[in-house]
Amino acid sequence: MYLCTIEIRKMDILTQDIMYLTGVGPNRKKLLSNELGIETFGDLLEYYPYKYVDRSKVYRVDELTGEMPFVQVVGRILSFETFDMGPMRERVVAHFSDGTGIMDLVWFNGGKYAKQNYKIGQDYLVFGRPSVFNNRIQVQHPELEAIDHSSLNFEHSAAQTSADANNGQWSMINVQCKMRPYYNTTEKMKKFNLTSRAMERLARNLIERLKEPMAETIPDFITARLHLMNRDQALRTIHFPQSAKELERARVRLKFEELFFVQLNILRYASDQRRKYRGYVFNRIGPVFNTFYYDHLPFNLTGAQKRVMHEIRHDVGSGRQMNRLLQGDVGSGKTLVALMAMLIALDNGFQACMMAPTEILAEQHLTTIRELLQGMEVRVELLTGIVKGKKRQEILDGLLDGSVQILVGTHAIIEDTVQFRQLGMVIVDEQHRFGVAQRAKLWSKSRPSAGGGTIPHVLVMTATPIPRTLAMTLYGDLDVSIIDELPPGRKPIQTTHVFESRMTSLYDGIRRQINQGRQVYFVFPLIEESEKIDLKNLEQGFETLCQVFPEFRLSKVHGRMKPRDKEEEMQRFVRGETQILVATTVIEVGVNVPNASVMVIMDAQRFGLSQLHQLRGRVGRGADQSFCILVTSYKLSEITRKRIDIMCQTNDGFRIAEADLKLRGPGDLEGTQQSGMAFDLKIADIARDGQLVQMARDEAQRIVDEDATCSSAKYEILWNRLAQLHKTNINWAAIS
Ligand code: ADP
Ligand code: MG
Repeated sequence: MYLCTIEIRKMDILTQDIMYLTGVGPNRKKLLSNELGIETFGDLLEYYPYKYVDRSKVYRVDELTGEMPFVQVVGRILSFETFDMGPMRERVVAHFSDGTGIMDLVWFNGGKYAKQNYKIGQDYLVFGRPSVFNNRIQVQHPELEAIDHSSLNFEHSAAQTSADANNGQWSMINVQCKMRPYYNTTEKMKKFNLTSRAMERLARNLIERLKEPMAETIPDFITARLHLMNRDQALRTIHFPQSAKELERARVRLKFEELFFVQLNILRYASDQRRKYRGYVFNRIGPVFNTFYYDHLPFNLTGAQKRVMHEIRHDVGSGRQMNRLLQGDVGSGKTLVALMAMLIALDNGFQACMMAPTEILAEQHLTTIRELLQGMEVRVELLTGIVKGKKRQEILDGLLDGSVQILVGTHAIIEDTVQFRQLGMVIVDEQHRFGVAQRAKLWSKSRPSAGGGTIPHVLVMTATPIPRTLAMTLYGDLDVSIIDELPPGRKPIQTTHVFESRMTSLYDGIRRQINQGRQVYFVFPLIEESEKIDLKNLEQGFETLCQVFPEFRLSKVHGRMKPRDKEEEMQRFVRGETQILVATTVIEVGVNVPNASVMVIMDAQRFGLSQLHQLRGRVGRGADQSFCILVTSYKLSEITRKRIDIMCQTNDGFRIAEADLKLRGPGDLEGTQQSGMAFDLKIADIARDGQLVQMARDEAQRIVDEDATCSSAKYEILWNRLAQLHKTNINWAAIS
């Protein structure tokens, strides 16, 4: 009973309106809410510092050099000086000394404020990055804090003693809290003086106000086993750590908690699904599959393809619904695996469908499948947005009576009007956006009487290799198969980096390739300027190339063309009528022209790693040596240089994906954006905290296995927390 009331009070205080915190009035409340989304005490508590600066060291002016990171100096302003910098602008310089030397504090903006607020003769702690200008040390836009003896954070005690030995400098001060937290703030907040410093004060006010320990969200026996700091301590420490070691423990605890509930959510969802739905049992490998495998398959399966077929056959025979993610680099032969999975469904009296992200790809799949099945009596049809009228009706009828056995199409397949007699296998190709919700929609595709708690098997294919830790989070409810072996005979694509200025020699090489009968892609980036997408690059590039190669024919495609025109241009290239295809990234996924052996990517610095890798995958599909050429300007950022280096070093999609995740962080990663699921992680970083992701996963799995119905009192606190998170965090809706 007693515990209960404390619980409620604690909840209450964290849901308090931020306005009632000391130091926050209506104006700051508005700023905090608009700029950072902080509405309550709890929100502020979870607004963690982004860095900490070790305040134990205070430098002397005569020690400073231009190569130091942020430093602290204690001293006094001797005088101010103002310089005119044109109309309405001035530069304010404060000459500052600690007795060992003089340095300048410089303001290009806000100098007026500095002159008014900082007093000559007062002791200040100055914080900033020193640089050298005209042989003098200066700190631009420093942070100043007046030092007085009553200050909470500072004590100016023994300082003078050591200073005396050094001719009366004030170089040593005792600092109670060694690690100073820094909070991200916005320009607007700074304008109203709601700086990192001010945020620090608010955080301190808040933490002092939280007298009761904050509620745990993870049972003690788990935190104890995993040696995790308790939640109350972690939340206090994250704002005001006493040491780096303590800070690290607090971070681990909070990161773990975040990742753990994500995993718990995913795994509980997956286990719910498993209990709710059965899968059709396909225990027959019959004439359709066998005829194809023994009489039609034009080559031997690779080892990896065989292994994946094994995994799929095991799934579909188990009585459990298959939910499998098939990852494999471009050209690794996923389509063939998908086709064989569909044929197994046919052998067991079911229909199958395959969904592609674009019409071009759907048609390409249709062609491939029809070719592979030539001479067999399997009815394969295409359904996209452009299939209309009588043809469409025919297909819809065929689906209902079961005569259409394989349907290939786009999103048009999940429209309500599309009903199957008995859909047993769904293949989803190259679609990161195809989330749990859409998959669920497919389950209602069979006639009502057909299933009844039994749903089709699903195979999701992707050529964007996803690092394991990310896959666990993005596709946590799917089992994963990997094709990590290319069909034999492929020559690895050679990738080179070329500067714009060397294009002429590049053109010669391209001319030779085309004269040998090869085809070439030129990809240009889209320029996005304030929501407007500009095709300038592409258009100019196309004209230049027409002039450079008057003897060849060129196609041009981009996303703004009418689907029909785009299709026609693509087809001209596919049929070999044009030798050069100039395009934006519309050719990124799936397009298959084995005769194309050169991929030139212009302004390669504008593309992300995984995008470059996807684009490169358009070549290297035939027996010829293929080339990828990354063209950039001279000036490259550090990150771009690394990206280009990785591309030139390896063709391994997984290595590239790992590197991408490390370079960019998961928030930016295409996989996450495309999934439509924003990661709302406040402190954990999927790229860097791989071990914690794994730990969280293992722990969550253990709990879901033990308490599948979420009813054990032992874990009640976890399920309650999960329910609470569902209420407060809308992004979770995307996961389940
Ligand atoms: P993905 O969809 O994984 O990018 P595809 O299924 O389109 O790759 O296969 C790429 C090419 O490789 C196709 O032309 C396909 O016919 C061929 N292929 C697939 N599997 C094999 C294999 N085991 N041996 C030889 N060629 C193969
Ligand atoms: Mg494919």
